[in-house]
Amino acid sequence: MASNEKEAVKRPQNEKKKQPKACAGRELHERMNFLYQASVLMSDTCPQLSASYGKLAKAIGKKAVLRMEPAIKRTLCVRCGVLLNPATTADIHDFRHKQLCYVQVNCKLCGYSKRFYNSKNHQLWLDNPSSIVERIEFQAPSSSS
Ligand SMILES: [Zn+2]
Repeated sequence: MASNEKEAVKRPQNEKKKQPKACAGRELHERMNFLYQASVLMSDTCPQLSASYGKLAKAIGKKAVLRMEPAIKRTLCVRCGVLLNPATTADIHDFRHKQLCYVQVNCKLCGYSKRFYNSKNHQLWLDNPSSIVERIEFQAPSSSS
């Protein structure tokens, strides 16, 4: 009986210790998410600040070796990190020819241009079902307590 009570006491401590291991770099992901949202907000009013936030988000991911989803990563300028908003900070050209099709995105802040080629057989690794190893779902902290 005494051993059961000891286990019951020990369990909550073990659960607390295991929680951070559930998702490696969760706090960094949250910080990158925050910086990206700040970059989106600032892209209309202050592109320089947006570029600063975007560059910081990319630098955090680079240092901790965390990958951004390509769909999100492609909305940030490669050179300056500003959010490429077609209305304010980017020019988008759709080039179509018989054999060569691509979308060219020009950054208005730093002038960098990036081409996304449209090839039929190309598939992103994240679109491949075998790329998913484990799916972790998090619940938002409840505000009722
Ligand atoms: Zn740029």
